[in-house]
Amino acid sequence: MNDDAKKLDITTRLVHSGEREPMPGGQPVSTPIYATSTFTYGSMQEIDLVFAGERPGYVYTRHGNPTLAALEQAMLDVEEGATACVYASGMAALHAALLACDLKAGSTVLLSQDVYGATTNLLLTVFSSFGVKTVTADFSDIDQLREKAREVKPLVMIAETISNPLLKVCDIEAVAEIARENNARLIIDNTFASPFLCQPLKLGADMVVHSATKYLGGHADATGGVVISRDEFDSTALIGAMKLVGGVLGVWDAHTILRGVKTLGLRMERQCDNARRLAERLNGHDRLARVYYPALTERGAELAQRILRAPHAGALVAIELKEQTREAAFRFMDALQLCVRATSLGDVFTGVLHAASASHRDLTPARRAELGISEGLVRISVGIESIDDIIADVEQAL
Ligand code: PLP
Repeated sequence: MNDDAKKLDITTRLVHSGEREPMPGGQPVSTPIYATSTFTYGSMQEIDLVFAGERPGYVYTRHGNPTLAALEQAMLDVEEGATACVYASGMAALHAALLACDLKAGSTVLLSQDVYGATTNLLLTVFSSFGVKTVTADFSDIDQLREKAREVKPLVMIAETISNPLLKVCDIEAVAEIARENNARLIIDNTFASPFLCQPLKLGADMVVHSATKYLGGHADATGGVVISRDEFDSTALIGAMKLVGGVLGVWDAHTILRGVKTLGLRMERQCDNARRLAERLNGHDRLARVYYPALTERGAELAQRILRAPHAGALVAIELKEQTREAAFRFMDALQLCVRATSLGDVFTGVLHAASASHRDLTPARRAELGISEGLVRISVGIESIDDIIADVEQAL
């Protein structure tokens, strides 16, 4: 504090002391948490130039912040896109990606039937109220999908790399070809695979969306989302969605997610190996009607080999109890002692979810039945623990 400042009243000094000091030398090795809502400059002229985009800089955190920019840069690098923007949640990211596609009343979105329930609801409630039409299709039947796309002429197509909750691997290359034939933009929700297992832009997708709440963060302690586009042109619309809709990622969560990203490769290797061991062990279990894990079917194994990072097939396993009732599923889940009963996935611990009462709760029972989501279906997000302990826990609960 200089001598002039010392003349100020203590109440004033309490507000300003210690702030906005010039940076000494030494670059921080990890990005600081820029916990500031706004930025100041030496003059109004400088602020005006930054506002006008004529000088690089930050003006207001809802428009951009260095901690968020660090996470955006990391995601841009690992997904190999041209522009990226982070948001307060995966749903905010999906909403922004859809806004960036310039949907208007009368436009059609062709949506994979096998997606997260809230994605379907976002389109059927928010977007449909503005006249956007949503048509669902089975994206695993490529011939039917091609016909459907020709019929409905979508502006946007949406699928998940590994579907929720039945874990079908999407043939992104084939779907991207159909999108191109119809001048549609393909959005891939890559949450279940993470960029470690799949980089959809390289397979022909136009935009990638993540719920960063899942594998990217990886520790169940942050909520966030990200959109990465292959086209620099989307930058204005993606930043515009952040500025105008305002689903801005908090800097603390951005920091936590960026830290999580650093260990994604190690966690994924371990989680995928664990999932394979669990799936192989449970396949054919006398209490189970079916085990869902991509590598257990010939088609799933071929797709996993081509679309995901070999030799992996994801870190999720879904099991269907022979007794296909909610009571039986809840009884099994309540008997687990180590696996955590919680809505989410992709964390370092093994987590279990009952799709019919959680991720797909808002669908009607009839629709769930059509999609093959029975009351006895339990999705297991396999963690980094010793797989022997997880297998023992699941087996005792069964
Ligand atoms: N996409 C998928 C595949 C999800 O599973 C989820 C949440 O479970 C979301 C998007 C939404 O993410 P968030 O909860 O971060 O909004």
